[in-house]
Amino acid sequence: MSELRAVTIGGSTVGLSQAKVDSFRKQLQGGLVLATDHGYDALRKVWNGQIDRRPALIARVAGAKDIAAAVNFARDNELLVSVRGGGHNMPGLAVCDGGLMIDCNSLRNVRIDPVNQRASADPGCTWWDFDYQTQSFALGTPGGAVSHTGITGLTLGGGLGWLSGKHGLSSDNVISFEIVTPDGKLRKANADENPDLYWGLRGGGGNFGVVTQLEYQLHPVGMMYGGMILYTFDNAKDFFKGYRDFLPSCPDELTTFAGLFKLPDGTTVAGGICAYNGDHAAANKLMDETFRKFTTPMADMLGPIPYCKLQQLIDEQTAPHRRYYVKSNLMRTIPDEVIDIIVEGYSKVPSPLTMLAFQQFGNAIGRFPKDATAFGHRDAIVEQVMFSCWTDPAEDDVNKQWARELSDLSSPFAHGHYVNQTGSLEEEGADRVQAAYGDNWERLAALKAKYDPMNLLRHNQNIKPVAG
Ligand SMILES: Cc1cc2nc3c(=O)[nH]c(=O)nc-3n(C[C@H](O)[C@H](O)[C@H](O)COP(=O)(O)OP(=O)(O)OC[C@H]3O[C@@H](n4cnc5c(N)ncnc54)[C@H](O)[C@@H]3O)c2cc1C
Repeated sequence: MSELRAVTIGGSTVGLSQAKVDSFRKQLQGGLVLATDHGYDALRKVWNGQIDRRPALIARVAGAKDIAAAVNFARDNELLVSVRGGGHNMPGLAVCDGGLMIDCNSLRNVRIDPVNQRASADPGCTWWDFDYQTQSFALGTPGGAVSHTGITGLTLGGGLGWLSGKHGLSSDNVISFEIVTPDGKLRKANADENPDLYWGLRGGGGNFGVVTQLEYQLHPVGMMYGGMILYTFDNAKDFFKGYRDFLPSCPDELTTFAGLFKLPDGTTVAGGICAYNGDHAAANKLMDETFRKFTTPMADMLGPIPYCKLQQLIDEQTAPHRRYYVKSNLMRTIPDEVIDIIVEGYSKVPSPLTMLAFQQFGNAIGRFPKDATAFGHRDAIVEQVMFSCWTDPAEDDVNKQWARELSDLSSPFAHGHYVNQTGSLEEEGADRVQAAYGDNWERLAALKAKYDPMNLLRHNQNIKPVAG
């Protein structure tokens, strides 16, 4: 097969006959949407308001059969293809220009098996869809820190959340995947069936097929203890130093954020978010000895909090359709130099909507063997995230430049990157994706050659196929 080509649009599809499009439409229970159809603009919109791509065709898939039809159609017609889960990927890779977007967004069911503590979820679910259902049984699994993020993209790249200290990454908790591979076949990937694929799907991103179902291990998650604690900006350095010194002894029950942001009135503050899944008296005592002691708090909102509420704590600050730009580095500690860089850098932040945070790794994540799954960096203790957010397109450059500068200054202290927070290939270069996989890169490239030798799925954090 020749190099895959994008289909361009100009009112209708170019390079595909009407008969082919009509026949494809008939195969889809969920429907096919073209640029001239009602609803097209809403469907191509994703979380990042900067993304303005125009797929030639959007397949609104209604299940695995539709997904297989879409994969076969893209492959047979050499179309560029992108896959949309929750649409939160920062560079908007869920949407392609020209080509076919496979849109899983309307597949949102979650089925719970409370006896075996398992949940099977559809690929368009957000963490809200998932947590709302699992919490009905006082169960949960590590998911993202924001409830409107999609479960599938997040899990395929690794998945870091409020329960990770005790239970590892989201992907560490997937028991089985169902997936349509680029040859159009529906396969299972778990410890017994296609174990190589199972390994690659836990961290390797959307490189190996279109996932139709994810089955997760659940864990007891009752009323949590945690929430937010704030400090004045003047105390930010003391807070980060106390936080950094505490992290190596952090118990598994606790997972945290530490960051800088602005209150609605414009006041700059430092803040911690704590999520403790366990005994509340022990949690309260731990907070007395740590977050309430790192430096003097200006507002202490720590206490009992339902898990779903914790999951929504920063939903508003990360609301969809504003303009976003994210740079991130993984670190094994937080050196004083990095604390100086971020505190001084944040004092010059161009937008009041921008946040800067450390999101905690470590604990259970680090106890999995390095090659247990495709996820590349189990020795990180935090992810440093520069989360630029603004609304005026005229301010794109200044906001992006701010995040880039802080990331560049911090990068001598970084050890790798998190693939789910990596920018576009054009901006970052292929080296950054490779750096996200560390020692697992060659095994992933060989796996890609086995399941997707033509690189049909390349509108993603791409692993190029290299036959082993
Ligand atoms: C507000 C916000 C908060 C975040 N918080 C966290 C966090 O706490 N922890 C964390 O680990 N990450 C976090 N992230 C990063 C997040 O993991 C990535 O943005 C992830 O890509 C989101 O998945 P999605 O399904 O919403 O994305 P989409 O943009 O829909 O998909 C991203 C990519 O995943 C692949 N993909 C999606 N669905 C499928 C499928 N069905 N089959 C095959 N491939 C598929 C595709 O390659 C696609 O390009 C956050 C991102 C945002 C925007």
